[in-house]
Amino acid sequence: MRLLDVEGLEVSYGAVRALRGVDLYVDSGEIVGLVGANGAGKSTLLRAISGLVKVHSGSVRFSGAELGRAATMRIVAAGIAHVPEGRRVWPDMSVAENLKLGGVIAGGNTEAERLERALTLFPELRDRLRQKAGTLSGGEQQMLAIGRGLMSRPKLLMLDEPSLGLAPVVVQRLKELFATLKRDGLTILLSEQNARLALGATDRAYVLAEGRILTSGTPHDLLENADLISAYLGES
Ligand code: ATP
Repeated sequence: MRLLDVEGLEVSYGAVRALRGVDLYVDSGEIVGLVGANGAGKSTLLRAISGLVKVHSGSVRFSGAELGRAATMRIVAAGIAHVPEGRRVWPDMSVAENLKLGGVIAGGNTEAERLERALTLFPELRDRLRQKAGTLSGGEQQMLAIGRGLMSRPKLLMLDEPSLGLAPVVVQRLKELFATLKRDGLTILLSEQNARLALGATDRAYVLAEGRILTSGTPHDLLENADLISAYLGES
């Protein structure tokens, strides 16, 4: 079933045309990657889906409803969570406060149940609930940022460059986490410059260049295209 359907999306920052007519879809239960060089427009695409930048034209449909010009609160309530680039945890608030704020717009089960679910996924945070988030390691902050995103009980989790600056062992942990979340029925859209993670953990991926989708396919298909790999995916 189609969960997210983006068509003809255009976004500009003043004279900079960051997205030039992007078409992309994500089906329920898929892990979809978004790869491309620095500045290709990956963050802008996720921000446009989240309502954080103004959409100039095109549409974003989620579970069949148009969200292209909706407020971020409504988009979160519809079931989209966005884990931004650079984690953006609130450094002076405790781990517990960070998690609870992620669940402010959530229906369904209670805050305690959602918190327990996040701590089952990230046991390393359990002993640190009172600690200030800014004192966690980069990897722990990434886990916290993802845990915070999950607190809104999303249907679609969007992650912007989650592996940036993290040690290989933490990147491996992320890969396993995505597989666990998929088994639990979550759908994931993952923006990554780390081609190994993007293609090793996804069902399909899109290659974005200069605000346009260059190509898309299964990791197997994309890895067969040698020109593509050297131009956009780096060594993998
Ligand atoms: P990165 O990995 O660096 O985040 P990206 O693929 O996510 O790269 P975007 O951050 O979406 O790319 O940027 C797309 C284009 O829009 C780039 O040319 C960038 O310079 C420009 N851009 C992004 N944010 C702004 C902004 N707030 N104001 C002006 N231009 C911007």
